[in-house]
Amino acid sequence: MSKTRESVKVVVRCRPMNEKERAANFERVVQVDVKLGQVAVRNPRGAAAHEHPKVFTFDSVYDWNSKQVDLYDETFRPLVDSVLLGFNGTIFAYGQTGTGKTYTMEGVRNDPERRGVIPNSFEHVFTHISRSQNQQYLVRASYLEIYQEEIRDLLSKDQSRRLELKERPDTGVYVKDLSSFVTKSVREIEHVMNVGNQNRSVGSTNMNEHSSRSHAIFLITVECSELGVDGENHIRVGKLNLVDLAGSERQTKTGAQGERLKEATKINLSLSALGNVISALVDGRSTHIPYRDSKLTRLLQDSLGGNARTVMVANIGPASYNVEETLTTLRYSNRAK
Ligand code: ADP
Ligand code: MG
Repeated sequence: MSKTRESVKVVVRCRPMNEKERAANFERVVQVDVKLGQVAVRNPRGAAAHEHPKVFTFDSVYDWNSKQVDLYDETFRPLVDSVLLGFNGTIFAYGQTGTGKTYTMEGVRNDPERRGVIPNSFEHVFTHISRSQNQQYLVRASYLEIYQEEIRDLLSKDQSRRLELKERPDTGVYVKDLSSFVTKSVREIEHVMNVGNQNRSVGSTNMNEHSSRSHAIFLITVECSELGVDGENHIRVGKLNLVDLAGSERQTKTGAQGERLKEATKINLSLSALGNVISALVDGRSTHIPYRDSKLTRLLQDSLGGNARTVMVANIGPASYNVEETLTTLRYSNRAK
């Protein structure tokens, strides 16, 4: 098993039926075998129902009973621990709109049981820091959005400005002029997140539609300095990228034209570029990793592959009417595995 295989994990999470789906008595077509790490999808009644279910295997799978804390402890915590040691890490939520990406990333923040990975990682990072004795930490937070291949700083006063990606031989790819705030507590970093979320919804008439078409990246940089046995200060820097991806549903509906079509093509572009990068990394034999194909993959270049760790959570819904999108998500993620 190559190192990359271990450093890229793909897990699937199936959300519960929602009230509407239960009321309409929709059939459940997804089965989850937590022990085997398998998801099986069968055809809805009537539609080639005699065919065998399609079965996919992943690093882990989570069903509708899964708790936020289980995902955190089993799947995310080790990645955040490695960031605290000075490595880079990225957590993605992928899936069709309405399947639980934002629930997985943010969750319900005023309910400790339903908090997602972002608030849980805040807690984790600052608890770790408060217990450390010989290290000094500096935590910085940035928050940005990629919409139609344009980068917006969600923490900037000027929300009309678009930022550019630059590259330097020493520091690699970075977003020029991106704001970053030093945060000293959970409360401070939560405040930064709230400000960004407010800016994200400003100017979008329909937040749901906007968030289904843009990628949101919350970036935490943890700098640790420690006096070594050599009497010198040693500094390690780890970056944690928390990414709520655009909805994976097909955007190019027949008849889309002009701006609509251009937008649709760009949204699909960064998701397919991401799939290509991850599958090239997992493959382990690829000499060329196509980072340059989208803003998203370029920006995350130093946090995908190499010594970095990646977790992709593929979110799906259980009901029959989503079966096509569910299969598309599982195939995409299976390729990334
Ligand atoms: P997305 O961000 O992918 O569009 P959301 O995270 O907004 O989807 O989820 C859609 C709805 O389903 C929300 O009301 C959310 O609270 C609920 N939901 C999603 N996943 C779960 C889950 N695992 N358990 C309970 N409710 C969930
Ligand atoms: Mg969302």
